[in-house]
Amino acid sequence: MNKLQRLTNAPGSSPDKALGPGRVLLAAPRGWCAGVDRAVMAVGKALEQYGAPIYVRKQIVHNKYVVQTLEQKGAVFVDETEEVPEGSIVVFSAHGVAPSVHVEAAAGNLAAIDATCPLVTKVHREAKRFSEEDYDILLVGHEGHEEVIGTIGVAPDRIHLVDGAEGVASVQVRDESKVVWLSQTTLSVDEAMATVGELKKRFPLLVSPPSDDICYATQNRQAAVRELAPEADLLIVVGSRNSSNSVRLVEVGLEYGATAAHLVDFADEIDDAWLEGARTVGLTSGASVPEVLVDGVLEFLAARGYTDVKTVRTAEEHVQFSLPKELRRDLRAEAASDPSARADRQAVPGGSS
Ligand code: SF4
Repeated sequence: MNKLQRLTNAPGSSPDKALGPGRVLLAAPRGWCAGVDRAVMAVGKALEQYGAPIYVRKQIVHNKYVVQTLEQKGAVFVDETEEVPEGSIVVFSAHGVAPSVHVEAAAGNLAAIDATCPLVTKVHREAKRFSEEDYDILLVGHEGHEEVIGTIGVAPDRIHLVDGAEGVASVQVRDESKVVWLSQTTLSVDEAMATVGELKKRFPLLVSPPSDDICYATQNRQAAVRELAPEADLLIVVGSRNSSNSVRLVEVGLEYGATAAHLVDFADEIDDAWLEGARTVGLTSGASVPEVLVDGVLEFLAARGYTDVKTVRTAEEHVQFSLPKELRRDLRAEAASDPSARADRQAVPGGSS
């Protein structure tokens, strides 16, 4: 049985005895953000527009279910551009790529669709501008994360990665009066600010970015978890282990008072033992998680007596991003030559808009 079948089957399987009654505090906002929506929509539209296969460099977003669903529709995920056959279409993931990846794609005669989240692109622009102004850039982020690799690639000679407060002491810059910090978009707000505080002690003239680099979706999901965590005997975060913002939600939940917290991709990964003695279960999901997976967890919990569900909302979100320009250009051209092509094209897996 594959994961998609397990997702469908899991909530229907009742435990030997109900563990409730208990209540669920459902975080809002949660799940699917505007950047993820745009990236997943881009792959779906590309499949419709050009047909399979559509190659995608890296996971389009860090979520197993989304990747499996797109694979079933004809997307082929690769690690590097060189794995894509010459002349094919390749989509770059929401986490962004270094400029060198665009060069590789052009060299391979690939048609690239750049689904980098516009909020990651904003950080790339900041990095480019500050490097051109000859700053040393201290990038607060996690070593090895795809977004960090892409951002460092914008100005590899100028950017120094600072992975947590413990990394501050070893940073070397050319001129301590010309230093700026930027950050990965999906960090824990508290942890990032602690690192920046240490950087400011070491570099008193440190310049801050013109606006927040930690994105609205990351901040809002953490704020909702901070609100409900003190009441949660157990916090369940729906998300994949390689999803930075999902992992941060577990950490924030524990830091703000949840007695226990676990990350799961699917409802059937929840261990009934976690529910023993848990009267209040907090529930949220990372920014790359479609709501169907949260619904699966709610059904799983309801089958165990957790039928009282209260939403804890700390913000409203209305952010939307337009499709990548390469796709908009081709969709416009097709619509101009064939008015019937304006017909609504749905069928994007898990899409929220
Ligand atoms: Fe963009 Fe933030 Fe969503 Fe990442 S989590 S895709 S930066 S909106």
